[in-house]
Amino acid sequence: LLRLVFAFALCCACSTPAVAPKPSPAPEAAAAATARLTSLVERALGDNQAIVTLRGLIDVAPKRLSGSPGAAAAVHWALVHMREQGLQNVRAEPCAVPCWQRGEERAELAGAAPQPLRVTALGGSINTPPDGVEAEVVEVRSFEQLHELGQRAAGKIVFFNRPMPRALRRPGQAYGEAVPQRSNGAIEAGKVGAVAALVRSMTTAIDGYPHTGAMNYDDAVPKVPAAAIATADAELLAAALAKGPVRVRLWLGCRTGEDVPGANVVGELVGRERPDEVVLIGGHLDAWDLGEGAHDDGAGVAHVLEAARLLSACGVQPARTIRVVLFANEENGLRGATAYGVAHADELARHVAAIETDAGGFTPIGFSCSLRDAAADAVKTLFAPLQEIGAGTFVGGAGAGGADLAPLHAADVPCFGLWVDGQKYFDYHHTAADTLAMVNERELALGAAVVAWAASVLADRDALSPR
Ligand SMILES: [Zn+2]
Repeated sequence: LLRLVFAFALCCACSTPAVAPKPSPAPEAAAAATARLTSLVERALGDNQAIVTLRGLIDVAPKRLSGSPGAAAAVHWALVHMREQGLQNVRAEPCAVPCWQRGEERAELAGAAPQPLRVTALGGSINTPPDGVEAEVVEVRSFEQLHELGQRAAGKIVFFNRPMPRALRRPGQAYGEAVPQRSNGAIEAGKVGAVAALVRSMTTAIDGYPHTGAMNYDDAVPKVPAAAIATADAELLAAALAKGPVRVRLWLGCRTGEDVPGANVVGELVGRERPDEVVLIGGHLDAWDLGEGAHDDGAGVAHVLEAARLLSACGVQPARTIRVVLFANEENGLRGATAYGVAHADELARHVAAIETDAGGFTPIGFSCSLRDAAADAVKTLFAPLQEIGAGTFVGGAGAGGADLAPLHAADVPCFGLWVDGQKYFDYHHTAADTLAMVNERELALGAAVVAWAASVLADRDALSPR
């Protein structure tokens, strides 16, 4: 319903329902929007605060996997930061989060002269016995291939070696095609009686960084330990397998503890005319523990905090409330997103839009959006000034904008994802290489300016509703 209201409000010239959509915003409104964009961009680049904010988070909480002391430190940092920044209604909204710890992780090609392989446990994996698990390796590129092997994979380590398809222009799409082997490889390996799953890392680069990430178990299937292997070592393993049988030994010391308290952190720029109507801008505060989570999703955290600061600094107070939400536990449970949906269930109908930034701190190129057809076209027109700075890509019907927005998406809130130039994202994603040094301060600042502008335009009563 809300989607219809949104679509209607955006494309109606007056409050009479039968009036045809306006082809474009009034010229003076477009000029004002362009002027606001220029001022936000120049302020973002000139002040250069986005990188300072990101550095502040990483200094305090370089490791902030859910349930860890770093995650708690990040919550505290965010509360202090929001208050110092002058946001209103700053609070922590509690949720229980899982507590999985990594422990020791290593692997080797077994034999007379063992050769180390660079591996990392997938998030949520069970441990191996203390002296590891050793078995012959079977290589597959698909679940179908594994099930054709059937019993022949029993007692073995299944090596899922499907690369991310590098011909695809959008790395996120390539990720989507290969990631099921990481998400569900352990389940499929368990079904055929294998003893472990070893998954090629999610990147097109051939390098030495193993990429962690979330994985699932099915309580109806025996659980096997699961690890990712660096692509360079996956190539090496595949080459060895091409010559004959290969045995690998894998040690994982991970453990899952009891759930612990966590929190979403929330602060607001209260709307000047419709304070009870909300445009949400969010990123996730947790991060995988191998690097610093600088791109994933420290950048998103910096984007939305800096977006709020920029709006205030530029004297923009939108008609509706802009709510900054730093979600807990995006990476291994989505407990923060779920808790937000529950805590704000009565209010979701008053969320007029939500923007998530969770694709890295790279140059912004536009937005994905859950709206379709005329509603999407109307926002595309509204967002046309972004073309001026190369951020005018707009794709409607492109999903929920980010995993944290799933409860809002389900409630028909129009959801947006900040789209950035992601060609390098999977060089860092979920690895030890995802560090502050890999984030460019100007690219990060531009992302913040674009989020600020889009949120303010969506929150502007005149743009949204002619009534
Ligand atoms: Zn993320």
